[in-house]
Amino acid sequence: MSTIVVGGGLMGLTTAEVLLERGESVTVLELLDGVALETSYANGGMLTPSMPEPWNGPGVLRHLASSLFDPRSPMKLRLRAIPSLTGWGLRFLQHSSQRHHDAACAANYLLASYSLAETRAITARLKLEYCHASHGTLSVFRSREVFEAKEAVCRIAGGLGMRYAVLSAEQIVRLVPALADIRNSIYCGIHYLDDDHGDARMFCDALAGRFRAQGGRIETGVRVTRVAAEGGRVVGVDTDRGRIDARRVVVAAGTASPALLQTVGVHLPVKPVKGYSVTVDAAGIDGLPTLPVIDDFKHAGITPLGTRLRMVGTAEFTGFDKRPNRVRTDNLYDLLVTTMPAIAARLDRSRADAWAGLRPVSYDGKPFIDACGPDGLWVNAGHGPLGWTLAMGSALLLADRIDGRPPAVRHEPFVLDRRLRHAAD
Ligand SMILES: Cc1cc2nc3c(=O)[nH]c(=O)nc-3n(C[C@H](O)[C@H](O)[C@H](O)COP(=O)(O)OP(=O)(O)OC[C@H]3O[C@@H](n4cnc5c(N)ncnc54)[C@H](O)[C@@H]3O)c2cc1C
Repeated sequence: MSTIVVGGGLMGLTTAEVLLERGESVTVLELLDGVALETSYANGGMLTPSMPEPWNGPGVLRHLASSLFDPRSPMKLRLRAIPSLTGWGLRFLQHSSQRHHDAACAANYLLASYSLAETRAITARLKLEYCHASHGTLSVFRSREVFEAKEAVCRIAGGLGMRYAVLSAEQIVRLVPALADIRNSIYCGIHYLDDDHGDARMFCDALAGRFRAQGGRIETGVRVTRVAAEGGRVVGVDTDRGRIDARRVVVAAGTASPALLQTVGVHLPVKPVKGYSVTVDAAGIDGLPTLPVIDDFKHAGITPLGTRLRMVGTAEFTGFDKRPNRVRTDNLYDLLVTTMPAIAARLDRSRADAWAGLRPVSYDGKPFIDACGPDGLWVNAGHGPLGWTLAMGSALLLADRIDGRPPAVRHEPFVLDRRLRHAAD
């Protein structure tokens, strides 16, 4: 069967690879001039089943309201974005109850831990190189209140198999000596033992190379303008180069997915939420952390990627505006300066690369992995802040649904119609 996958980011490429391995003829259509140049470009690099919680937990309304007047707030709502968020925003708030939050944590955790196992498997099978390492992740807490909120998530994921250890400030400094200067401001930490990290863009480039070598096609610089359907069946896509026929179409176009699905009357409740990263070359510097360090006070993290360090964070509701914001990226770099001053002092800040990307965020913090609209149309989108972690598992889940095989994890939490009773579980 001929399949078109729209989008050459993490979701598109993993989906394309899995379908190709199952004997399909697969073509990826990508708007930009290469793969992984949009949201999958310079993300935090963390493969973290330990972070399954959606952003809209209890108290989110208070955070968003206070962020309107605070330029440094880690989660920021901009006034100009409010009109574009009305319906979605209401559902985002409606799903911030403890019950929805805990259910989403559990569903995301199960998909994420399956996904990480499959990411490791494909890494070994295809010999993919992307600065991948398996040392876990460290969260550092400055206050008891924040620690207890995260501990509640750990209890949910821990009950499903996640391994973690609560560390004292001394134990933290033994694990990451670069944190010695902030020892006195640390309340405690959590070492999530089963997490990995690696460069998502390098993964995509390596995977794209293997996909092509196995007979898959990737066409870049092609804009898909609509899904083409006749008599209730998908017949292909229309592009700026004309019609391309296919019996099946998978929309994996990140934040552009809602607009594409709208062309066949499918409503996908996904909105862009901006985040930033700053990457700095740290080659030749001793004592770099060997695992990602998250400062829960700042809602930001530092990930080692080979000889680079990447600072990442913030969630800004600002529509499709991808312009860099100096206050935001300075704030991220300052995380390094304040938490690892001895390392920061030896780096060339003027050569740091700042980047902004738009996370495709669903209103309830879970992705959409489902059939939709005309026969032959599928969606794999809306993975928000966890797309790198969830990519391989989502691709396999989608492929299992397409093939009618029993999936390794429950698919119900990720169906498009969340009004179905089982989807809310
Ligand atoms: C700052 C930041 C940090 C993050 N950190 C992490 C992390 O540490 N761990 C984690 O798990 N996740 C993280 N994420 C989330 C993760 O990066 C995203 O969920 C993931 O990249 C989304 O992948 P995608 O394939 O859905 O979208 P994209 O990567 O955006 O891919 C979609 C592709 O579709 C293409 N496209 C769009 N429209 C069309 C069209 N009309 N025709 C053809 N092609 C089209 C785009 O050009 C794009 O290449 C982070 C995100 C951000 C922004």
